[in-house]
Amino acid sequence: MTGLDIAVALIGAGKMAECLIAGWVDAGFDPQALAVTNRRNDQRLAELAARYGVRAERDKGAVLAGAQVVLMAVKPADMAVALEQVAPYLDPGAVVVSVAAGIRLEDMARRLPGRRHLVRAMPNTASRLRQSVTALCAAPGCSEEAFARVRRLFDLVGATVEVDESAFDAVTALSGSGPAYVYLLVEAMLTAAHELGLPAEVARQLAVWTVVGAGSMLRDTGLPPEELRRQVTSPNGTTAAALAVLEEMAVPDAVRRAVHRAAARSAELA
Ligand code: NAD
Repeated sequence: MTGLDIAVALIGAGKMAECLIAGWVDAGFDPQALAVTNRRNDQRLAELAARYGVRAERDKGAVLAGAQVVLMAVKPADMAVALEQVAPYLDPGAVVVSVAAGIRLEDMARRLPGRRHLVRAMPNTASRLRQSVTALCAAPGCSEEAFARVRRLFDLVGATVEVDESAFDAVTALSGSGPAYVYLLVEAMLTAAHELGLPAEVARQLAVWTVVGAGSMLRDTGLPPEELRRQVTSPNGTTAAALAVLEEMAVPDAVRRAVHRAAARSAELA
């Protein structure tokens, strides 16, 4: 048990919701304190109930009864309707959290008139393994207690940082979408490994541990990435040869532009 003792309702039973549920249950959260609903798809709800022991409810009223944290995990385009649907059933003290890209606190407030306890969050799918980093921002009227409730929940599935709402498009582009950039790089590394004749399983193990190791070095040594890169790169060596190609193909610039594009897309979704 986590000692959190808090009832959480998840609206939307998609990929992000499942990653959070998996992380919370793994952290010792009582699955019966987690209730989830979806737009239709009873099969998806039954699947989550069977897999994690959570309460799956078709009905918004049933999922929201007693919930002290209401987590909105629907696509940005579905958020307005979903907020309007939950509004009549919200407990007066409940805090409503959106994890949707591009949905601003003022958009939430417009759909939930009179509600003060609103939080915007941007986790990522690594919450499944309790390795997410989640950016959080509270609406001006949100109480410190309500915000702390949300922060404790996301701390269970990784680390949290509090940021100004103006930073959210950048955060979404960096850490919300970020895992996909790393996966793309690994896909390309695996293609090359295959071409070089490495057996698929060996290549996968080598690539995965390389990324895990590099990530741990970044987190645990606190050294800047350029310094860590220098440590792997001897003059005229193999790494230098590889990095020369990446520079020649303007990969660093492409990544920089990709992150900018993601941030612009997040702003467009608003
Ligand atoms: P998804 O499509 O897998 O899941 C969304 C779910 O919401 C669907 O199952 C849909 O049926 C349900 N839904 C839609 N309208 C509903 C309603 N009115 N009531 C109840 N359920 C409803 O999407 P996802 O990838 O899980 O993303 C969900 C949100 O999380 C998005 O807003 C996204 O921006 C955010 N997010 C996703 C990631 C990610 O990596 N997938 C990371 C950070 C944030």
